[in-house]
Amino acid sequence: MKPIFISLLFCMTVSVSFAQKYNWNKNQVIAHRGAWKKNQYPENSIASLQEAVRIGCYGSEFDVWMTKDSILVVNHDPTFLGIKIETATYNDLLKKTLSNGEYIPTLESYIKAGKKQKSTKLILEIKPSTLGKERTIELTDRCIKLVDQLKAGDWIEYISFSYDACKRVKNLVPAARVFYLNGDVAAEQLKADGLTGADYPYPVYKKDNWIEHAHQIGLMINAWTVNSIVDMQWLLLQKADFITTNEPELLFEVLEKIKKDN
Ligand code: MG
Repeated sequence: MKPIFISLLFCMTVSVSFAQKYNWNKNQVIAHRGAWKKNQYPENSIASLQEAVRIGCYGSEFDVWMTKDSILVVNHDPTFLGIKIETATYNDLLKKTLSNGEYIPTLESYIKAGKKQKSTKLILEIKPSTLGKERTIELTDRCIKLVDQLKAGDWIEYISFSYDACKRVKNLVPAARVFYLNGDVAAEQLKADGLTGADYPYPVYKKDNWIEHAHQIGLMINAWTVNSIVDMQWLLLQKADFITTNEPELLFEVLEKIKKDN
């Protein structure tokens, strides 16, 4: 082979391997509905996702619903500015905008925005349908299918208050990280069902050495929604793997102080 061809081949190999590299942030910070509060971005907006990325969060959390015409959209409440998402069409939702001028993000647009970077994970919450369990499973399946189509599996972790949705994800995508939210299933059961861990309201963890025991059996721990310094410090002392907060900047300050003091 001619030297010029060999060096070209080398450059191509290096650029391909560089292009595939991830650099996930190594911290406990998950921005709840994105990092919206400090700059008054709308919750669950693309702007709040981009801010969570900019400040270096491990993850940015968001909530997913399905419209009547089966479009997946990102919003916390079952209603979007007064419109009930599950009985509205996507076009109905486009009649209103968020306070920063964004339309309600589709899951597709949200994931595409998230995939422009490789440092912050996208923490996808599957919302239990108000129209019944079957609709929740349909939403779950459509989320999984879209993530697959967009080749976004490496970015996504799943959370849900629906235990059926959590188990469904684990069955269909065994490699996915899946955390259950509702606080009412014992660590042993989460483990038996193959879930990655618990993402419970933090007071649950204050009983029975919950975190220590969960770690002993190989589960990971996330906690919501933790907004005070005292609670953040307590969870970090207990070695919680992740903390979901409306105050990601404050959690970074707490982490920085702990680092300085040690
Ligand atoms: Mg949520």
